[in-house]
Amino acid sequence: MEKTNPETKSVVMVEAAKDYGSTQIESAVQRSFAALDRRGLTVRPGSRVFVKINTLSPRRNPESAVNTHPAVLREVLRCLLDRRAKPVVGDDVNAGREDPFRIPGQRAVCRELGVKLVNLRKEGFREIPIDGRRLRSVFISRPVLEADLVINVPKLKTHSLTGLTCAVKNMYGVMPAGERLRIHRLFPMNEPFCEALVDIFAAVRPQFQICDAVIAMEGEGPSGGRPRPLGCILAGPDAVALDAVASHLIGIRPLDVATTRIAHERGLGQGDLARIETSGVPLEGLRMADFKHSLVAFSFLRTRLPSSLYAWVQGRLVMTPEIDPSRCSLCRDCIRICPQRTIMERDDKAWIDLSRCIHCLCCHEVCPSKAIRLKRTRFGVLLQAAGAAWERASRLLR
Ligand code: SF4
Ligand code: SF4
Repeated sequence: MEKTNPETKSVVMVEAAKDYGSTQIESAVQRSFAALDRRGLTVRPGSRVFVKINTLSPRRNPESAVNTHPAVLREVLRCLLDRRAKPVVGDDVNAGREDPFRIPGQRAVCRELGVKLVNLRKEGFREIPIDGRRLRSVFISRPVLEADLVINVPKLKTHSLTGLTCAVKNMYGVMPAGERLRIHRLFPMNEPFCEALVDIFAAVRPQFQICDAVIAMEGEGPSGGRPRPLGCILAGPDAVALDAVASHLIGIRPLDVATTRIAHERGLGQGDLARIETSGVPLEGLRMADFKHSLVAFSFLRTRLPSSLYAWVQGRLVMTPEIDPSRCSLCRDCIRICPQRTIMERDDKAWIDLSRCIHCLCCHEVCPSKAIRLKRTRFGVLLQAAGAAWERASRLLR
């Protein structure tokens, strides 16, 4: 596997796009592709290109900022078709019998442009041996393995377990759902879970990323947070560098995100902002110092405590999911996703048997109705308040 020299500079293109209106997106994505061409990463005519979108929740519309916006996907596909490539779009989505891409809007775009759109679970997976930190093999979707080029089109969101979900974490979706659940069960703590995520990312290593950061998500992402306009498209060949820039824009120090730090340390990309060159719009004009981070991910503690102590504290701070029956529509998404099979139906609502919960927060992640709240212990509340105060003070001093 090719490693990035820690001294090497990476480049991330930052293009302004205030909204999803066609002109804004068109020029931002086209400029990103032009920069790609200039750097010699040209998409060759006839290349089979797999485009990995983020379709976390098939019942959320484009305005909810949960999934990759169809306007961004449309322009990425147009650029690929202009270069006479053969794109296939996909993600692995749990949607029962429904079309997973209808409400998020990706189906209509692919139909309009005549591009194949696949739910990866229907295309088969192949086991690949790897020499990861946590994993010895990974199951990767066949369309991904068969592509000449993988283009990663993530959404910029906060994440209640990993702090940030963007380019590196988007590759988690090329694994089958059962394997993802197994990994959640094996590694319920943030650090080992992120090491496993980086193992998966390293097995695919997409060649180019175009991130939808036009409207990002703040708060308790990746699905329970609030949409927040950030006004840009980020692009580049180095996923780790792109995540570093994404974190910086939303006021998180890049190496506080475990996936960025681990991938950087392993030579899978550049996570040091000082060694990342950006082109396009200056970062400082876009940066949002008041962007709300996930309180649950509490990066404050993670970056300041040795990992063994942090694991102990995290154990005391664990978040407990709680279902608000008045909001539950019994869609059963949480029942399907729970790795512990500890969510069941009771009185026409979902109900959690907490005795077997491993606090992976997957149920909170997928609930389309924001019916799952996260409760914290009193000790956790106090510690978090102290952490947030420290974080505010250090931001003021920076
Ligand atoms: S109940 Fe929710 S947090 Fe607990 S194990 Fe199941 S999915 Fe994870
Ligand atoms: S809690 Fe949310 S995900 Fe679970 S069944 Fe109810 S609405 Fe669906």
